[in-house]
Amino acid sequence: MPAIVNLFSFLAEQPGFSETVTFDQLSQFIGLASSIKNDILAAQPPTHDPNDPPLLLAPHQRVFLTQTCNIPLEFIDHCWLAVREMVWRKTVEEGARLNDHQFEAWYTGRDFQLSGQTLWPPTQQCTNTNCPSTQLLRERDGIFPVTLFTLRNGARATYSTYLTCGGM
Ligand SMILES: [Zn+2]
Repeated sequence: MPAIVNLFSFLAEQPGFSETVTFDQLSQFIGLASSIKNDILAAQPPTHDPNDPPLLLAPHQRVFLTQTCNIPLEFIDHCWLAVREMVWRKTVEEGARLNDHQFEAWYTGRDFQLSGQTLWPPTQQCTNTNCPSTQLLRERDGIFPVTLFTLRNGARATYSTYLTCGGM
């Protein structure tokens, strides 16, 4: 993880960034982007290495982060480049995914089929030992709406995914 001085000097490289984007907005960006890591990965080409944070976000992810972090769209790409390593290494604790802290953001997420609780398979690559493919698993039918029943927070509207391997 870079020293904070490196992070802020990188952010300041884009004219207007430091004067426009607040620390709270940046913090919100890191939190939300960390919760949609699987979505970010699913939008990459199948040859993408899942250990590397991608260089670019998909268009709907950029618009989602603009709206929920109140960061102008022109700064979103630079913001992502600055924190992508941090986002990629960050582990999102299961309980935190279900708290109501970012409830409004996830309400907006419905417009983009993005949710902090989307159910993804635990692996991004094929687990069949006979399979030669090292590519990323792909969504077979897109993501679909489901209701998640939780002990603490009751029923929650979210999404589920079905990933499939193209190797065999
Ligand atoms: Zn396979």
